[in-house]
Amino acid sequence: MATMESLIGLVNKIQRACTVLGDHGGEGLSLWEALPSVAVVGGQSSGKSSVLESVVGRDFLPRGSAAVRKEIADETDRITGKTKAISNIPIHLSIYSPNVVNLTLIDLPGLTKVAVEGQQESIVQDIENMVRSYVEKPNCIILAISPANQDIATSDAIKLAREVDPSGERTFGVLTKLDLMDQGTNALDVLEGRAYRLQHPWVGIVNRSQADINKNVDINFARRKEREYFEHSPEYSHLAHKMGSEYLAKLLSQHLEVVIRQKIPSIIALINKTIDEINAELDRIGRPIASDGGAQLYTILEMCRAFDKVFKEHLEGGRPGGDRIYLVFDHQLPAAMKKLPLDRHLSTSNVRKVVSEADGYQPHLIAPEQGIRRLIDGSLGYFKGPAEATVDAVHLILKELVRKSIAATLELKRFPSLQSDIAAAANNSLERFRDESRKTVVRLVEMESTYLTVEFFRKLQLEPEKNTGNQPASNSDRYTDNHLRRIGSNVTAYVGMVCDTLKNSIPKAVVHCQVREAKRALLNNFYVQIGKREKDQLSAMLDEDPALMSRRESLSKRLQLYKSARDDIDSVAWNR
Ligand code: GDP
Ligand code: MG
Repeated sequence: MATMESLIGLVNKIQRACTVLGDHGGEGLSLWEALPSVAVVGGQSSGKSSVLESVVGRDFLPRGSAAVRKEIADETDRITGKTKAISNIPIHLSIYSPNVVNLTLIDLPGLTKVAVEGQQESIVQDIENMVRSYVEKPNCIILAISPANQDIATSDAIKLAREVDPSGERTFGVLTKLDLMDQGTNALDVLEGRAYRLQHPWVGIVNRSQADINKNVDINFARRKEREYFEHSPEYSHLAHKMGSEYLAKLLSQHLEVVIRQKIPSIIALINKTIDEINAELDRIGRPIASDGGAQLYTILEMCRAFDKVFKEHLEGGRPGGDRIYLVFDHQLPAAMKKLPLDRHLSTSNVRKVVSEADGYQPHLIAPEQGIRRLIDGSLGYFKGPAEATVDAVHLILKELVRKSIAATLELKRFPSLQSDIAAAANNSLERFRDESRKTVVRLVEMESTYLTVEFFRKLQLEPEKNTGNQPASNSDRYTDNHLRRIGSNVTAYVGMVCDTLKNSIPKAVVHCQVREAKRALLNNFYVQIGKREKDQLSAMLDEDPALMSRRESLSKRLQLYKSARDDIDSVAWNR
């Protein structure tokens, strides 16, 4: 049979778990509220306080002349004034002892029939309402106290208990003052369940009398006397093993144990739910990293890979941004080329100037080869601008994609140092790619100047000069407007052809040098660097935001506590 001691063990374990969780979890658990409380109800002086004390085996309630009684009386007066009124503000009396169960034991005022001198008429109803508010809670175990020297049919305790607990599941009928019954009468009708049937057996009690209390008879002595009373009583000796405060305590413990054990599955479920929540949050903010160098290197590489994956998605589709590069090639570059001041450069007046300067003192005879070369050179020089601008525009887009990818790599959020290390490494690479790309596109333009497409001019020579017929132009025609315009338009046509070529080849060079390299080798240098790093340098890279670290630490701690609470409760659940 469960004893108060074993119940103390069970409840203490659950309580320890809950307290720990409450202390560390912040939100705590409402388990404690779900656990049962025990309340005594009954008329005035029916022996409620005495029963509560003898069930616990300690003197602590306001009865007799103890100092605590005065303390409570004074406290009550402070709240209600000296009006003999009642207050529904409970007085919390905490008892600290390893031997005391942290159960809520509620000593209620006695139910009364009439208001005494100085009390409000409403006192009768007020007390009943207050008592009812406690005992109607489904987790309240009711000790319904009736004195044996009164008719059970008039018992207020039984009346109220039947009202709030019709099935009698949580009501214990207690009959006090058996020793004060009139000579020749006994309470067997009640104790044997004939007078009034309850779910749980009736328990008869002999508490300390007022005289005992006045003589400071201690509770253990009183219990022994009570036991002797039942054993030697001619009426009750056959019931002796089912009577007395110790038996009531056992009965109550047993019942409490059943009720508490019934709560265990929901307690465990609550704990499991919390464990799941903590795990989910830990997943969200990232698990702690192992402290060895290998694991750290692995973590860093994982982060790099995660970042790289996001970056590639930006370029290859799936994420926005890569399309802006095509916009540069398709729109920005042609528009910039269109805006070049070629018309001015190839105007008749400039053609005249360049051609005659190239001719020097000897005007050209057939075609101004030097002049044409200079005009083409000069024109192509303009293309370096749009070519370099294309490189820079793509560079800016790639840089922006790096920034976006860093922000979108959630795993990286917890490592601000690593985040900026990766960003710096990526941007470094992009700058190297840009320099390479710039050299390449400038070279493409220069290549067009260094070697001209001969066929283009050979075809031109086959075409006759319309204005002069088949006659070779005379010397005096060398610098005529017509002749110069024709040179200008030929050069314009040639430059237009080169422009079309460059419109295609510049994007090819840019993609080759910048985009392709960014996809292929954005973090290659970084990998080489971290491969050479020492363990402490690696852990410095994995430096986390202190707020996050402490959040993770407290979550991990809570997780541990919940798990060990679950183990503790599990173990009491299986230990009987
Ligand atoms: P409460 O008002 O219901 O809390 O009753 P108390 O526990 O304060 O008891 C009221 C009075 O009845 C006290 O003087 C007790 O000593 C006395 N008393 C309670 N139970 C018994 C009992 O079983 N036998 C005797 N002789 N006196 C009792
Ligand atoms: Mg009392």
